[in-house]
Order: sequence, then C-alpha cells, then structure tokens
Amino acid sequence: MSGKYCVLGYGIGYTLSPLIHTAFYERLREAKAYGVEDIPPDELDAELPRLLAEYDGFNVTKPHKESVAKMLGAGHPVNTVASDGRSTSTDGIGFLLDYTSAFGTPAGRVLILGAGGAAKSVAEALTEHTDAEIFVYNRTYEKAAQMRSDRVTALTEPSGKFDSVINCTSAGLKGEQASPDSLDLSGVRYAYDLIYSPAVTPFMRRAESEGAKVRGGIGMLVYQAIASQEFWRGKPFSENVRRELYDCAVKAISEK
Ligand code: NDP
Repeated sequence: MSGKYCVLGYGIGYTLSPLIHTAFYERLREAKAYGVEDIPPDELDAELPRLLAEYDGFNVTKPHKESVAKMLGAGHPVNTVASDGRSTSTDGIGFLLDYTSAFGTPAGRVLILGAGGAAKSVAEALTEHTDAEIFVYNRTYEKAAQMRSDRVTALTEPSGKFDSVINCTSAGLKGEQASPDSLDLSGVRYAYDLIYSPAVTPFMRRAESEGAKVRGGIGMLVYQAIASQEFWRGKPFSENVRRELYDCAVKAISEK
C-alpha cells in the first residue's frame, strides 16, 4: 500500500471528499491519492475485504455507514476506517470544532433535531466535550428514545426554550423544513444545520428570522476530514497546520 485513500458510498457523484483531501495532500506536499468507491449495497459484503486490502484508509458515507459499522463489529457510528479494520466517526468532533470556531463552546439547553447516525455522533461529542444540557427530538420518537442517556433527554414534543438548536435531520436537503411548527425558536441564539448543500436551508432561514445566528455544515465537512487524516496518521496536527488545512480546503471548495 502506498498512500491510497477513498470515500466509500453509493450514488455519491456529488461528494466533495476527494477535493478536500487532495487539497490537504497538496498543502502537506504528500504524493497520496484520494478517490471514490461507488458500490451498491448488495455488493458491499464481497467488496469490503478488497477495500481493506487495497487502501490505507477510507471514509464511509451514505448508505453504507451502518452496514460497515456492523461488518467491522464496531459498537459506534463509523465514517472512517483504517486498513487494519480500526474505525471511528469523526462527524461529532468535526461538528464540535466548527460550531465552536463560529459560536464558542455549546452551552445551556441544546436541542438536537434528528436521531440518525449524525445526530448520535453530535450527541456523543456534546456529551464528552461540553457541559450543555442535551435534548433530542425526532419525528420518529422511538429512535430518539434509543439515544437517551443520563446526559441526553429524548422529547416526545419539541417544547421548551433552547439556547441552541442543531439540525441533524436530512430534511432540508430537498428544501423541507426540519423544525416542526410547534418548536419555539424565539430566544435561540445559535442554529446549526449539518447540511451543506444547499448552503442555506429552510431551517436556517427560519431560525435567522427569529433572531438566531446561523451556520451550515460545510466547515464540519472539512473538520471531519481533517480528523479522519489525524485518525489515519495516529496523531493530531498542530493547531497551525489544522488551520492551514481548513483554509486550503475551504478555498478549494469555493473555487470549484
Ligand atoms: P440518517 O438517514 O441516519 O438520519 C436522517 C434523520 O433525518 C432521521 O432522524 C430522520 O427521521 C430525519 N428526517 C429525514 N427526513 C425528515 C423530514 N422530512 N422531517 C423531519 N425529519 C426528517 O442520516 P444521517 O444522520 O447520516 O445524516 C443526517 C444529515 O446530516 C444529512 O443531511 C447529512 O447530509 C448531514 N451530514 C452532514 C455532515 C457534514 O459533515 N456536514 C456529516 C454527516 C451528515 P426518522 O428517524 O423519523 O426517519
């Protein structure tokens, strides 16, 4: 193996991951390659051993995140895999780094909308790294209930006041509103949407009209990619290098 990486998904012609990681390698002056493996779900079982043998590491995106986690026997969400089968999810830390750089450390009453893989990673990061009071609301309550812990309260209705609301649903990808009408957004200071395309979602528009500062998920995408690189390398970048990698990836995306 010699510096070969990729993103594994299906129907992911839109992915920005090769652009981002290639920008990192250029900035780091490393002759590494980052490609795309577009594999249908029914071929994943047979292909996973090849991917582990062929690549030094790979990212996992939809619709394979849960399947790969199961196949690797990981008891946690997975978006990053090393060739020896070690895995992690860098989504949570990617979110936290980007949110914090924009708004400061999440604090007070924080509501997570959604209960899929991304919501779980965000809840885990908030639980591990902040003192925030964490709530989760999902249109399918049973999935929110599965996220309940001594730090996470699952809500049957999104009632109450919140300092911060984080949209971890995929509503908004196609222009749908993620926040139910019954959710009171007045008084919310910060609203973060994990979605990065479109750059502005109906949730962000609604939150902004209620007075919140808003941010979309492009910075999270870049920070989770930096954290994947750190996982594969087995050590963190310095703060300076991390900042440079962030800037060069954002520049590459904006010039796309
Ligand atoms: P999942 O498919 O695992 O979860 C989707 C969630 O969205 C579920 O809770 C689902 O609710 C909810 N949902 C879907 N449609 C609607 C709707 N119309 N109204 C209300 N709720 C809805 O997806 P992921 O957790 O993997 O990803 C969620 C989002 O986060 C995606 O948009 C993804 O692009 C984004 N993301 C961004 C990243 C970044 O780096 N910026 C990284 C990872 C994800 P239910 O359970 O009821 O079906």
